[in-house]
Formats: sequence, C-alpha cells, structure tokens
Amino acid sequence: MQLVTARAASIGSLPVRRVLPFRERRAVGPFVFLDEMGPVDFEPGGGIDVPPHPHIGLSTLTYMLEGGLHHRDSTGASQSIDPGAVNWMTAGHGCTHSERTEPEKRARARTVHGVQAWVALPPEKAGIDPSFEHHPEASLPFVEIGPLTLRILAGEAFGERAPVTVHSPLHYVDVEASGDQLLEVPMELGERAVYPLAGESRVGGSLLEPGTLVYAAPDEALEVELEAGARCLLLGGAPLPRPHFIHWNYVAWTEEEIEAAKRRWADGGFPETDESDFDG
Ligand code: MN
Repeated sequence: MQLVTARAASIGSLPVRRVLPFRERRAVGPFVFLDEMGPVDFEPGGGIDVPPHPHIGLSTLTYMLEGGLHHRDSTGASQSIDPGAVNWMTAGHGCTHSERTEPEKRARARTVHGVQAWVALPPEKAGIDPSFEHHPEASLPFVEIGPLTLRILAGEAFGERAPVTVHSPLHYVDVEASGDQLLEVPMELGERAVYPLAGESRVGGSLLEPGTLVYAAPDEALEVELEAGARCLLLGGAPLPRPHFIHWNYVAWTEEEIEAAKRRWADGGFPETDESDFDG
C-alpha cells in the first residue's frame, strides 16, 4: 500500500490537484498522469482556456463531475463535454487539442470540477493514428453492489466493460454510495488505486483526505469503506511492461521519441486544431 498526496498546480486559470506522476509512483497500471480539476467557482466571464497543444503516446481521458468544457482536436473533433460523459482522445503518433469553456456557459457563474487522466499506449501501439471518442453518460454500463453504484467509465471491471476503445487491460470506475458499504477491489484488476471525489471513504480505517490516492500492488488486497454520500474513483490495470518516459505532454518508450516530439512542436510539425467554430 502506498499513499500519494497531490500537489497544487494550475492549467491557466484552472487550479488542479496533480496526483500523478508522483516521485515514487509514476504509474498505476497504464495511468501515468492524473489531474483533479477544481472544484473551482468561476465568476461570469471566467473560464477554461487551454489553447492547442500537442500530445504523443497516450490517450487523454476527460470526465467532468460539474460544469463542462469544449474539446477540439486535430482529428476534427469539436465536442462539448458535459458531466458524466467519457471523452477519450488517443494521440498515438501525434495530435493537438484545445479545451475551452463555451461562450454561452462563460456568461454565467458556475462551478467546474472534473478529472483528466493520461493513459500510456503500450509500446506496440504507441505510434497508432490519432482518434477521438465521446461516450455520453447513458451509454456507460453500471453495476450496483448494495448501496453502491459503480459506473464503468473505461476498460473492464466488476463484470462490465465500457464502450471506449482501450489499448491495454485497465479499469476506470466512478463509485457513488447512497449508504455505508465496504467494497473489495479485486486483485485480478492488477495495479489498483482509489481516489476520493466527495464525502468520506476509508482504507484500513484511515480517512482518505481530498487529494490523496491510495495505491495497491497486484498482490495486495484493497478494501474501501464508503460512507453514505461518498464518491471515489477507482483506476489501474496491468502494470506497464517497462519504465516509460514522460515529458510535458509527451509519453514515449524511448528518449529519442520525446526529443523528436519537442523538435516537431518547435518546427510547427504537429497537425493543427481547427478552432474556427469558437467565437469566445
Ligand atoms: Mn492536453
């Protein structure tokens, strides 16, 4: 068991808790990056403005709890992301994307709260073509265990499989408790972690403070006690086959690929994100 404490960071005007990577915990299964965005209260006029930037070697997994944002990328996707939907952009050999608050939402005060994870592509798939998938909340499977509702956001767990096209064995699950319940997270899921989103959850009797992730190795039991009103995220999967490289927005299996991506971005060699439908 390992405790990871998020550090405060920001993406433009958006405060985030950066959970992964952590010095001594670079990945949980294929999850190599985890940011909790907000919760932040925006005044009218305020919002998220992350301009186009590049990625390689990973899939971004964006899941909003409150508020939303608009995703555009170089595959041509232009998608409003509302709470509960799963958005999965695979960068493969390279793409760009932007994330912005929609002009009509920007006019009103609002709370924004969400999670963005990066999932490393396995070595044999790191160079695949970029793609984007949007799966609305209603298309996602869920499982009920006593008073718990487990939404399977990506991968496979608890006997259900999410529709998103994943490239290695993984699970990403949103658990909500309407009553007190002990949840065993099965060892067969590989490396596992629990991250609290709301309310009170405990592992081994210790309260999970906001911004704290608990990691369990493939051979360690993981049991989470959720109280009524608690919500937490489960994530993990098969361990990565070997140490990966991560630099800025790039994930790769060799340092040369990271260096090539840096040069390519400096030289304007990444495909462009069309933002002509953005009038903010
Ligand atoms: Mn990005």
